[in-house]
Amino acid sequence: MSPIRISDTENRQSKPNDNFTTRSIHIGSEPDGVTGAVVPSLSVATTFKQYGVGHHTGFEYSRTGNPTRNQLEHLLTSLETSSSAQVTDSVDERYDETSGGADSLVFASGSAATATMCAWVSLAVDEGGAGGRDGVNGLGGHVLAVNDVYGGTARYLSRASKGAGLEVTFLDFEAAGEQGIREAIRPDTRLIWLEVPTNPLLLVPPLPLIAEIVASLPAESRPLVLVDTTFLSSFYITPLIPPTPNSLPLGDIVLSSMSKYSGGHSDLILGALTVSSRTVQARPNLLTGLRFLQNSAGAIPSPRDCHLMTRSLKTLSLRMIRHGLNALQIASWLNQQEKVADVRYPGLATDGAFHLVEKLLSPNARKELEFLGWTFPFKPTSGKVVDTVSEGSLAHVRTLGIPFGGIISFRLKDASAEETDRFCSGLRLVILAESLGGVESLIEVPSGMTHSGLPEETRLKLGITPNLIRFSVGIEDADDLIGDLREGLDALHV
Ligand SMILES: *Cc1c(COP(=O)(O)O)cnc(C)c1O
Repeated sequence: MSPIRISDTENRQSKPNDNFTTRSIHIGSEPDGVTGAVVPSLSVATTFKQYGVGHHTGFEYSRTGNPTRNQLEHLLTSLETSSSAQVTDSVDERYDETSGGADSLVFASGSAATATMCAWVSLAVDEGGAGGRDGVNGLGGHVLAVNDVYGGTARYLSRASKGAGLEVTFLDFEAAGEQGIREAIRPDTRLIWLEVPTNPLLLVPPLPLIAEIVASLPAESRPLVLVDTTFLSSFYITPLIPPTPNSLPLGDIVLSSMSKYSGGHSDLILGALTVSSRTVQARPNLLTGLRFLQNSAGAIPSPRDCHLMTRSLKTLSLRMIRHGLNALQIASWLNQQEKVADVRYPGLATDGAFHLVEKLLSPNARKELEFLGWTFPFKPTSGKVVDTVSEGSLAHVRTLGIPFGGIISFRLKDASAEETDRFCSGLRLVILAESLGGVESLIEVPSGMTHSGLPEETRLKLGITPNLIRFSVGIEDADDLIGDLREGLDALHV
């Protein structure tokens, strides 16, 4: 038989309006055009042959562009900007941003993506930047950030960017309300930096309200809205996709530390920025500016890591569903324990942020949850129904709330720092460690670990007390995790 030419099979590929899980497996992983390999080849070359001066395939040097990185960026853009069918919708109604110029940049870490965004604020307009303080020439500029932003982000905004003259205000958006938010936006505010949910207290800033306020500002002075979605991943939240066809998207740029859920196995450090096509059209120089900064600083990932990340993303939806189902059960169980106080999990129906969850839930997650029997809008089930379903069954979990990520926070009632340490380090399965989002359960004490760099006064003001615990619920069996926590609580002499 004669060899098949790639052109014979070219049209049989994943489409932008395939559902999330299908796209996560096929986009960027199309069978190899030469060999037919079903997994993309790893492209490790640093440099690429030119067929005449300036005549090349689009690749020159791997810092500037690499085929394996491009494949991952292509996949990410699809996951962040195209949505799954909304239940009864026809294929035509599915939202697709990819054709309009939306794009992603993958970085060596989430922090490298953060540094690039900060540099963009202070970069001159003619280099693709936001123009800094005067909006033209660069240097300075103001960022309005959510108050308990990720520690590394706070450090970059308030300390590392000082040399560039960047100014930052940290705001409790929820407490500020519409008036307070409007007042906090200055004429030189170039960027609004949000995180959903915040860390470690799992607060949910009012994204729809912020989007409305920004849209009401004159176009020439409108700051961009960046949403760090690391804690939820593109499975649970997609701020670049308008919640309904006629509503505003909740952000312009998504930042993700892919070192967490996207990688999912605690063995990769990578980060990404994705810009929506709507924002690309409104700010045609934005991507140019970001690429210029990334290329200049060399803030790029290794192609080997990109290759592994593409593999990790293929199981993102499977993992995220299980993280969410486990977290919902465990949060509900913790809530009933005498030695535990202040359980926070936004997906729990009794949580203070629950009213926002349904508004923020991505159509990607909604579709999978509907398959599992959830109905939207979520209705708290009556006691009668709860009585008839057995504890630990999916029917029971459906009465507790909506799966929304895998992070829980709680306090050990009246426990000292030492007792909190003993509880966390004494668990059998759950590992005491920083970071989150892996398949294995991790637990940490923010005041002594991830947030120990903050002044004590700031920590206490934010509610980061020595007995506050952050729990990254893995995808082990929920009963085993609850058993582990139960033994730990039993051993506590509180
Ligand atoms: C981990 C994290 C970052 C930083 O990402 P790295 O990949 O560790 O550099 C940024 N934001 C959030 C919310 C994170 O959890």
